[in-house]
This record gives sequence, structure tokens and C-alpha cells, in this order.
Amino acid sequence: MKIAVLSRNSNLYSTKRLIQAIREAGHEAMVIDHSACDLIIEQNGPYILYKGEKLKSIDAIIPRIGASVTFYGTAVVRQFELMGVFSAVESQAIVRSRDKLRSLQILSREGLGMPKTAFTNFSKGGEKQLVEMVGGAPLIIKLLEGTQGLGVVLAETRKASQSVIEAFHGLKARIIVQEFIKEAKGADIRAFVVNNRVVGAMKRQGADGEFRSNLHRGGKAEVIKLSRLEKAAALNAAKALGLSVAGVDMLQSDRGPLILEVNSSPGLEGIEKATGINIAGKIISYIESAVEKKTLKRKNE
Ligand code: ADP
Ligand code: GLU
Repeated sequence: MKIAVLSRNSNLYSTKRLIQAIREAGHEAMVIDHSACDLIIEQNGPYILYKGEKLKSIDAIIPRIGASVTFYGTAVVRQFELMGVFSAVESQAIVRSRDKLRSLQILSREGLGMPKTAFTNFSKGGEKQLVEMVGGAPLIIKLLEGTQGLGVVLAETRKASQSVIEAFHGLKARIIVQEFIKEAKGADIRAFVVNNRVVGAMKRQGADGEFRSNLHRGGKAEVIKLSRLEKAAALNAAKALGLSVAGVDMLQSDRGPLILEVNSSPGLEGIEKATGINIAGKIISYIESAVEKKTLKRKNE
């Protein structure tokens, strides 16, 4: 098979590991920079020009779409799908997972555990009511457009909560307000899901005095064995969002695992180093079985 990794940077750990795993499995590998793809849409069907050449004979793609290029990146993934190329993660699922609010709405409908969350249009002023909606301070205020822990604020008191909310509102930034899960003690769990299985999990602990556990914020990762409930929560979350490859972030709370967010291009470095598991290889095995299934189905039709 010929498998392409869609990535803007072939030097990233995740991109390099995927390329290596494709080759180890005996396939042809290539990196395609999705931002350099031109999409041609016409009566004879869609195709892609890459650096001026028409792309053909690719069997599968692995999208690694950065949050800042979601619109263009997912348009490229969709074009591949329409050309009959298998994608390890569906374009529509990437779009869905990039919208934090929409994802939480879907997870809530599925009855999954999550910190109580509120979103408002401030129709009645309402900073004060917003604080009460999630049970008062301390609480977490999150910029909907933030990633890697930037734009996540812990407000310790009602007064602080109100003034932070006012400040964001004044800047016209979209925010959600969330119940603060104190028992998590500055740690979270990342479960890596491939094809309805948890293939690796790690616990990330924030630096001393830091409530955010992001590795980019100085957090440390170690391997963890998930409880049955945590495994089920991760699998259900990935499934609800239609993601066949996902990084599910959860907090451990007194009432069980609470989903924070589900990542559609989860990084491989942290999880492979913490667990020693060949996660890239698991993604390639999944693609092999999915493409085989697709080919068999076509033959039988
Ligand atoms: P980002 O997408 O920017 O990483 P997250 O929502 O994952 O934002 O939050 C970053 C970190 O902050 C989490 O990994 C977690 O450690 C901490 N955190 C986020 N929300 C809560 C919460 N409601 N209660 C306690 N800690 C939280
Ligand atoms: N972007 C990385 C990922 O999705 C994680 C970022 C972090 O934990 O700081 O795996």
C-alpha cells in the first residue's frame, strides 16, 4: 500500500514515527503537506494537485491537522475521502472534535461524565448568574479557541470569577465556565484510542502549584493502568465523536472519570515515551485491516 501522512512538518516526532511504522509494515510512505494541496472540483470528479502534480495511487492517509488550519486541512481530507482514499480519521469527525463546545454537547447527550459546564450569550448581563450556574467558585474559565492549556483560568473566588468573565466578555472572547475538579490534584489522564481499543494510557501531573497538567506547561507523564470505568469512558467518548484515532483527556474525580476533551490529532511523543508502546504501529495495523475490509466489501458488491 501507499500511505500518506498529512502533516505540515516532516520533522515532528509524530510524523517521523508514523512514516517509520508505515515502512516497518512493508508499505510505501510519504508526507504530504496539506497546506500545499490544491483541490480541483469539477464534473469529472474531485482531484488534488500537490506542488503542481496530480496525486494518484494513494491507498490511505493519516491526517495530522493542526488546530490553526482545521478548515483547510479538513477540506483536503474530505477531498481524499471523495476520491475513495481511506482516511484513518474521518474529516467530519475532525471538524466535530475541534469545536470544544459542540463536542461537550454531544458527550453530554451520550450521558458521559464531564465537569458541569455553562455557555452563555450574556443576554441579561449575567456574569454573576454564570458563576452560580456551575455551582459557584472556585471554577474554571476556558477560552473556546485555546489549546495546550493556554486560555484556561482557575478563578478561586466568586469575585475573581466575575471579573475574569467580565474581562473575557469585554474582549468578545467566547468562553465556557466549568466546575473545578479539585480532587484531580493538577493531574489528568490521556487515553489513546485506536479502532475502539485503548492502546495506551498515561497520567500527566502538572508542575508544583499548577492545576494544568499539559506537557507544554511543564507537566510530567507516567504510564497508568486504567480502571474499567475509565476505559469505557474513553471508548464511548471516541465513539460518540466518530473518531477511530483519538486522545481522550479525562480527570479522575470522586464521581468517576470526567471527560475534558477529545483530541483528533493526538501527539505520539508523550504517550510512546511514557508507555514504551509502539502506538504508531497500532495505527498502521488499524489502517491495514480497515483497507482490507473495504477492498473485500467492494469485491463482493
Ligand atoms: P487545553 O485543551 O488547552 O489543554 P484543557 O481543557 O484540557 O485545555 O485544560 C488544560 C488542563 O487544565 C487540563 O489538562 C487539566 O489538568 C486542567 N483542567 C481543565 N479543566 C479542569 C477542570 N474543570 N477542573 C480541574 N482541572 C481542569
Ligand atoms: N498536543 C498534544 C496532544 O494532543 C498534547 C499537548 C499537551 O499535553 O501539552 O497530545
